[in-house]
Amino acid sequence: MTDAHGNRLDPWVDAYATRARGMTASEIRALFAVASRPEVVSLAGGMPYVSALNLDAMADTISDLVRTRGTQALQYGSGQGDAVLREQIGEVMAEVGITGHPDDIVVTTGSQMALDLVTRVFCDPGDVVFVEAPSYVGALGVFRAYECTVIHVPMDDEGLQPVALAEAIGRARAQGLRPKMIYTIPSFHNPGGITQGPQRRRDILDIAQREGLLLLEDDPYGLLGFDDVGFGDAPPRAIRADDADGVVYLGSFSKTIASGLRVGWALAPHGVREKLVLAAEAAVLCPSNYAQMTISSYLATQPWREQVKVFRETYRERRDALLDELTRQMPEGTTWTHPAGGFYSWLTLPEGLDATAMLPRAVAALVAYVPGTGFYVDGSGRQHMRLSYCYPEPERIREGVRRLAGVIETEVELAATFGTGHTLHDPAGPSTPTPDQA
Ligand code: PMP
Repeated sequence: MTDAHGNRLDPWVDAYATRARGMTASEIRALFAVASRPEVVSLAGGMPYVSALNLDAMADTISDLVRTRGTQALQYGSGQGDAVLREQIGEVMAEVGITGHPDDIVVTTGSQMALDLVTRVFCDPGDVVFVEAPSYVGALGVFRAYECTVIHVPMDDEGLQPVALAEAIGRARAQGLRPKMIYTIPSFHNPGGITQGPQRRRDILDIAQREGLLLLEDDPYGLLGFDDVGFGDAPPRAIRADDADGVVYLGSFSKTIASGLRVGWALAPHGVREKLVLAAEAAVLCPSNYAQMTISSYLATQPWREQVKVFRETYRERRDALLDELTRQMPEGTTWTHPAGGFYSWLTLPEGLDATAMLPRAVAALVAYVPGTGFYVDGSGRQHMRLSYCYPEPERIREGVRRLAGVIETEVELAATFGTGHTLHDPAGPSTPTPDQA
């Protein structure tokens, strides 16, 4: 079947489940195919810089593993995840102040899968999830797939605002909605580049406890801090460190070892852990034994803390290049966040400019970013964009910022002459991100 233009039609379009209606490809996906060409400086991708990994050490780890324990590594494993790895995850979480029992850890195929499992276990269609404004596009995709009602709560320069959160919960209850959980990324936020200080974390936990809402704490960047944000030399202390019963904590090896191995985890209250394991078994039977044992051997035989330090220094240098060049180049009225860790800065364009409409012109000028609309469920975010500094070399980042500044300046002039107008609409809103965008 084809339409009048010869495009193939999907004969199953009326057969999809209601939940599949929320699964939409964004128009900007097509642009990212262009943006991945080598001449384009991509400040769009959230890809860890795996070139900073010691690949020889990883190759030795993998070949030893397959040679000595191959029959176990290449076999099915436990639905909850490898017991040795869960012990080691306990040590990794100690870095952010958590003393969790390995029994309460569920290993997942990246923390993305943990997001899916928690939502599957807790959320009926219509249940309300409170998220930051903006929030991680991959989590929004999950909440949409399970037909949750997503309510954005504003952030300030310390992240999620407690007063606004309490008000949003009150309003939702008054409207007869069913608040279920609060989803937060307290450290080095994606896409906001903001970190909650100690008091802010306590305030948010207080609200979750008082309101009887599950707190879903997503912490893939916690060990990648550059500056003191109120925790001294230590990484930010996880909210979960202060409440074992009300928080599900999500962690990942994607940014500290290798995203391609797809190993993450959830640390959950004991009863919840049981449900997550059952949901995981229904989805994938068990996470990959091979990937888990690779991570486990790597942690046991390689200086992983040193490796995390290498990543941290690499990203710090890139963050510095980005912020310095933004300060030099950006026209008046443009502002951006100053990330103390992680991968991202959130940029706000001068009044009246539209980051979605501008993207084709930016790509034509050989620079790419993710427009802000992807990080909201309600179409807001047009004046914003996410800039990632994790992947390009510092000089490329500077070149990308110079190109972007040129595009913004032209937009400012055009807006002054002709008024503001949209040339690209992206009504699909947040869609499942391409792995490059995540
Ligand atoms: N949460 C956040 C905030 C992220 O930024 C990402 C990846 N970009 C994930 C979860 C998923 O990571 P992974 O599945 O690789 O662990």
